[in-house]
Amino acid sequence: AASAEKRRISVLGSTGSIGRNTLDVMSHLGGREAFEVPAITGMGNIGLLVEQAKQTGAGFAVTADPDLYAELKSALAGTGIEAGAGPSALVEAGLRDTDILLAGIVGIAGLAPTLAAIGGGADIALANKECLVSAGDLFTSAIAQGGGSLLPVDSEHSAIFQVLEENQRHAVERIILTASGGPFRNHTRDEMASMTAEVAAAHPNWSMGIKISIDSASMFNKALEMIEARHLFGLRPEQIEVIVHPQSIIHSMVGYSDGSVLAQLGAPDMRHAIGYAISHPRRASLPVERLDFAKLARLDFHAPDEVRFPALALARTAMERGGLQGAVLNGAKEAALDAFIAGRIGFLDMADIVSATMDRLDDGRQATAIEDVYAADREARIVAGAIIAELGARSRA
Ligand code: NAD
Ligand code: MG
Repeated sequence: AASAEKRRISVLGSTGSIGRNTLDVMSHLGGREAFEVPAITGMGNIGLLVEQAKQTGAGFAVTADPDLYAELKSALAGTGIEAGAGPSALVEAGLRDTDILLAGIVGIAGLAPTLAAIGGGADIALANKECLVSAGDLFTSAIAQGGGSLLPVDSEHSAIFQVLEENQRHAVERIILTASGGPFRNHTRDEMASMTAEVAAAHPNWSMGIKISIDSASMFNKALEMIEARHLFGLRPEQIEVIVHPQSIIHSMVGYSDGSVLAQLGAPDMRHAIGYAISHPRRASLPVERLDFAKLARLDFHAPDEVRFPALALARTAMERGGLQGAVLNGAKEAALDAFIAGRIGFLDMADIVSATMDRLDDGRQATAIEDVYAADREARIVAGAIIAELGARSRA
């Protein structure tokens, strides 16, 4: 039947920046003629979730917020689309039979539903980098066991995936992650200290969710991406380099043992990486801007400043220490970022809080089960929360 040829794609976090771009790519690639959507999920934006569910003909629409169940259910009445709410419904969304699961939730909240889909053997198109940063090897071995593929959606990792020749993996010397440098690329530390969340969220090149935008300003996003790359491509920490490239045209590079460097270039538009992941191993025709090199004229590069951007060194520390330090870094970073967005701490406090939390929880413990990851995440939030409260008390004194 015609429907057997349709690709099934569930989208976790469909109402977010990655989620909306994903549905846009799917509609360019044939919409309901080409895709079935077993499940989509959102959180507060019920209006958009309902609109997306109707537009895609989704089987199951879930809000992460249990208090919004009644509102979602009544808005979907008569459509034949099932409604769900809360953490267990999110996991159920991940368990719905699908060919591809687009993991587009932000933060560790996306780990449980993504693991559920992995267990069911789905291919995972991964934007939700916090899964790999926190669960690391457990996540990649779950993929190996589940039998699906892991398809990177983060633009840097998609670039590396596209130029990493499978039969030449042994000859990879290094990977070079490009970073735009974010809105504070040329700011002094003193200037950065007084920046608000609103200013920090205004990214020069990419239009993204608020959390990843602020993480780009602090370069915590690049820090997460270093750890993500390590697990995705099985690299040693010293093989991962970061270079600031303000134009965001080269999305990342792979350096080989013969001195050759392969790069992937394109307009800064997430629909490329999303389209590549969901069409893999084919290349689809995508509505992204074509590069005009004469207009570009130049590409700039400079070494990142690890004094103004301590997040990069924290990623190296987490990789060298290993164990649960990735989960601790991520949990502390999420807590600090929430506090910064709420106006409770300053921009530069975020890295100090993460660093102090990592040191306090550096006990060499390894993750043997996913519960260890959740426990480390919780502990990191508690320790970071105490430091945040101390900072608040000090600034009021
Ligand atoms: P966003 O804030 O725009 O969207 C997040 C989505 O997750 C929304 O659908 C939201 O409803 C849902 N969500 C938020 N909190 C949740 C919770 N606690 N439980 C369940 N669902 C929740 O974020 P985004 O920019 O789309 O980023 C999503 C992920 O993709 C992040 O991990 C981010 O780092 C990664 N990523 C994003 C981009 C980008 O261009 N936006 C690029 C590369 C990687
Ligand atoms: Mg990225």
